[in-house]
Amino acid sequence: MTVPANNTLMIGIIGGGVAGMACALWLKRLGYTPVIIEQNAKLGGQLLNLHRPNHWVLGLPGHTSAELASIYAEHIRQEAIDTFCPAHLLELDTTDTGFNAVVEHADKRHVLALRAIVIASGVRILGLEAFAALPGYQTVLEAGLISNFPFDHLTEQANWAVKTVAVIGGGDNAHFTAKDLVLAGAHVHLLERSTAKARATIRREVLELIAQGRISEHPQTQVTAFQIHQDGIALCLNNGEPITVDRIFARLGFAANSEGLTAFAAFNGLIKKAGYIQTDAAQRTSVPWVYAIGDVANARHQSVVNAIAEGAVAAQDLSERVQMNDSKS
Ligand SMILES: Cc1cc2nc3c(=O)[nH]c(=O)nc-3n(C[C@H](O)[C@H](O)[C@H](O)COP(=O)(O)OP(=O)(O)OC[C@H]3O[C@@H](n4cnc5c(N)ncnc54)[C@H](O)[C@@H]3O)c2cc1C
Repeated sequence: MTVPANNTLMIGIIGGGVAGMACALWLKRLGYTPVIIEQNAKLGGQLLNLHRPNHWVLGLPGHTSAELASIYAEHIRQEAIDTFCPAHLLELDTTDTGFNAVVEHADKRHVLALRAIVIASGVRILGLEAFAALPGYQTVLEAGLISNFPFDHLTEQANWAVKTVAVIGGGDNAHFTAKDLVLAGAHVHLLERSTAKARATIRREVLELIAQGRISEHPQTQVTAFQIHQDGIALCLNNGEPITVDRIFARLGFAANSEGLTAFAAFNGLIKKAGYIQTDAAQRTSVPWVYAIGDVANARHQSVVNAIAEGAVAAQDLSERVQMNDSKS
């Protein structure tokens, strides 16, 4: 597929999570030709892996996030929105009329002439590499006694009665995991590098469990070494006696998927803060005709509806600007 350079209506969307899909829908409805470039084999992003009911989406009660991903992807299919999936953005250059992108998809290279670009590349789970240099870590990893996927504890939950586990992290996910494990009968050591940063509702529930002695909270605490012995895993800590646990769940947070993209010269000048792309209220970035939406542009308020709303805002702003620009020339 090669689109002529005078196509003023084609907009490239990098990332096919909920933000990218919402933006594509709005652009299509506003008369544009959105093209979604998604690196994975399926649209949906993070939602694909979240198999819990999502209670936060108005009008769609009872659906899991993964089910929402299917509903949204089906909507994109019905609208016949162009989707390269799985695909990789190989080249991106600025031109007089916007951008030229080279995308690899299904063993072919496609050249796209884009009027604007919307970055919707989301975030990823921070991996266990933070522990890689610590003594004993490799042994614990190879024994399958440490993992970091947000819901790994649920698949093993039945085994946690009367066990002691460590949850490493201080955010929402660490708190939800700690609560789930306590409800499954485990005693939890909650190890926080600084202090708890979870939202008030789940924090309150965890505080109750701490008061009941079912969670032991360790603020300002870091693991300095792991050692497997016959009673379990001894965790050496920076600020106290070692604790012994049966299993470790790391909940280290998330990182914005922006590094790979900012390697393209066309994105020179993109302002980021801790990896998150900075935008104005209309989702415009510091680079002309480049927008950013969803989790990659919103470190504070990450949710399905925020991502949808930001996709819609970017599409509307883009449409108004193109019309204004075209009426001047
Ligand atoms: C454990 C957990 C529980 C959550 N629970 C809820 C909840 O109950 N309710 C709620 O509303 N929200 C919840 N959220 C948040 C919600 O899932 C996110 O806010 C939302 O999915 C973000 O969508 P997004 O499109 O911005 O990003 P993502 O879903 O991260 O999508 C980004 C997409 O971009 C792709 N991509 C990345 N880089 C590139 C590239 N270079 N080229 C091409 N494609 C690329 C990725 O493969 C991905 O498909 C939860 C999140 C987590 C982690």
